[in-house]
Amino acid sequence: MKMKDIFQKALQSIGDDSTLLNVKPVSGGDINEAYLLRTEKQQYFMKFRKNAPKHFFKLEKIGLESIKNTNTIAVPTVFKREENDHFGYLLMEWIEGDRTDKTGELLGRNLALMHQCTGPGFGYSKDTYIGNLLQPNDFYNNWIDYYRECRLVPQIQRAYKNNYLSLQIRKKCERLLERLEEWIPPKSKASLLHGDLWGGNWLTGKNGIPYLIDPSILYGDHEFEIAFTELFGGFPTEFYKAYNEVMPLSLEYGERKLLYQLYYLFVHLNLFGTTYLESVTRIVHKYI
Ligand code: ADP
Repeated sequence: MKMKDIFQKALQSIGDDSTLLNVKPVSGGDINEAYLLRTEKQQYFMKFRKNAPKHFFKLEKIGLESIKNTNTIAVPTVFKREENDHFGYLLMEWIEGDRTDKTGELLGRNLALMHQCTGPGFGYSKDTYIGNLLQPNDFYNNWIDYYRECRLVPQIQRAYKNNYLSLQIRKKCERLLERLEEWIPPKSKASLLHGDLWGGNWLTGKNGIPYLIDPSILYGDHEFEIAFTELFGGFPTEFYKAYNEVMPLSLEYGERKLLYQLYYLFVHLNLFGTTYLESVTRIVHKYI
């Protein structure tokens, strides 16, 4: 099927029969093709992929809708999802706008409000994806167990299989897994988390309203999310100030921040290779 036919069929299925005026590729994504579709009626964003892993777009749609249902922070509305044997896509609202002096503050406050929404346990009922990596999930009563079993262990094992880890680091990782209690709280709130919140996963819409995109949701310690926002930057000072006013970080946050960033660095090591090995080893040495 030609791309143009896919676009047109998608638009028709949501009741937009007006002329498709133009299609522009959008850059910046890691794994999917992305397009701006402009019809006589409206602009749309389409994320498209040939041979996408099973339920890839379904999971993204569920994530976006779970966030939307909290009524705390904006996400693009998903108009249509298609997944078949050949390709998959999400057709959604096109988000575009300029930041105002309130954007960072709104992002912080609204994210904190989202983090006040809690789930039935720690983790998630379905496996999700982070980038292209399958992120195994389950619900746990205890955040430390979830963080160990579902987050760190699978990534450490993968890194080991990929031959990234020396025996010394592997041994230190094992000791770290046994000692997580020293830095991580077992009884934090099971907050709804975006799960992949780096600077490229929020956008500014009309009137400077911040939107979250591309989630990989879970329920967990809110400091896990904030630690990732600090890893690669992209979040203004006002974001942290406003966040802290609604959902203050604990006094111990500084001690566990690197341990939370470690998960994301392992994911990056497994996805993109040894550029991230130095950071991973530095953190492991710092704790053990
Ligand atoms: P990937 O899943 O491949 O990483 P992203 O979700 O990051 O793709 O999106 C790819 C690009 O499209 C990014 O530059 C992002 O800023 C932009 N983008 C994503 N969603 C929208 C949207 N709803 N409206 C406008 N641009 C978007």
